[in-house]
Amino acid sequence: MDEVRTNILGLTPEQLVDYCSSLGEKPFRARQLQRWIHQSGVSDFNAMTDLAKSLRSKLVDKAEIRAPVVLKDHISADGTRKWLLDVGQGNAIETVFIPEDDRGTLCVSTQAGCAVNCLFCSTGKQGFNRNLTAHEIIGQLWLAEAAVRKSRNVPPGKNDRQISNVVMMGMGEPLHNFEATVSALKLMLDDNAYGLSRRRVTVSTCGVVPMIDRLAQECPVALAVSLHAPNDRLRDVLVPLNRRYPLAELMAACNRYLDYAPRDFITFEYCMLDGVNDTDAHAHELVDLVQAGATPVSCKLNLIPFNSIPMPGLRRSTDARIASFAEILRNAGIVTTIRKTRGEDIEAACGLLAGEIMDKTRVQERMAEKGIGSEEYIRSYQFKNICS
Ligand code: SF4
Repeated sequence: MDEVRTNILGLTPEQLVDYCSSLGEKPFRARQLQRWIHQSGVSDFNAMTDLAKSLRSKLVDKAEIRAPVVLKDHISADGTRKWLLDVGQGNAIETVFIPEDDRGTLCVSTQAGCAVNCLFCSTGKQGFNRNLTAHEIIGQLWLAEAAVRKSRNVPPGKNDRQISNVVMMGMGEPLHNFEATVSALKLMLDDNAYGLSRRRVTVSTCGVVPMIDRLAQECPVALAVSLHAPNDRLRDVLVPLNRRYPLAELMAACNRYLDYAPRDFITFEYCMLDGVNDTDAHAHELVDLVQAGATPVSCKLNLIPFNSIPMPGLRRSTDARIASFAEILRNAGIVTTIRKTRGEDIEAACGLLAGEIMDKTRVQERMAEKGIGSEEYIRSYQFKNICS
């Protein structure tokens, strides 16, 4: 039987040094190998011409460089590009490239499905299937950089990086897959791999408090927190993890993170849901939370117009409502942006990543049995005057 090859695509710089050492090779060989893989996008060991022939033949025998397989590749009318990737056992993930004039941002997934099950998120409706490995996470960047270069006739190499920013904001909660996420982050930041600045790599979490502290110690990059509600009663419904790590704990963790973060603010994401979390009263409560709560937090607010998923009772706030909400925040001195919706024609915008929802763990069925997510359920929270 063939020996199973080691997939070295997701090995961190230190792990690759160890791997090369296990083959009897010096550390500088690991750095050469890393540049071939991540800067030149090469997967054929025989094409790595400055490696000794003996090393190449060892690698051919024992190792491989294997990214997830592309199932679909869609390009939106606005240039947004989405790949559907096969990660085995019937699981698929999505990766989205968002080109802008001054940057190219890649939104990567860290899990197949997600256990958090935020009320408005299509990924959560699939249930949790499994954590992605480090090579499946970094493989999204590896694939996307090569594909974008090819489409723009930019030759492979260290220069002219097409992807300048990475956001871990795709499918899954990155801090529920901590080890693989940090391994991929280390490669994104390493000068012999992608060389991205910490300020241009963002981990987005719904608020896994202990892991925010760990990230601060192990690999502090920019942090975005999916807030979506200004009080615990509403957030308990929209982001169920809030029941475990309520807002007071989350705000305190954000403050601790700022001591290590590459930016002097946390980005709070806030999905605008008509009549649920978008009133003037909610906006004022949000100002109080971040400015006058027990732990005020230096932050920016990013308001996200909701992209409809098959969930009764949830609708996108009107543009006028979003503008009024933003004005209250700005008048309080909070830098506030309204996210431009991209790639809707290919279902690439946030919250639509799962596309066709595969409910492997019967999440929707179980929620329906309890009445969770019904129009009545959502509206009942609104009628209880959550803002008071
Ligand atoms: S918003 Fe993020 S954390 Fe919440 S269910 Fe979706 S993928 Fe999971």
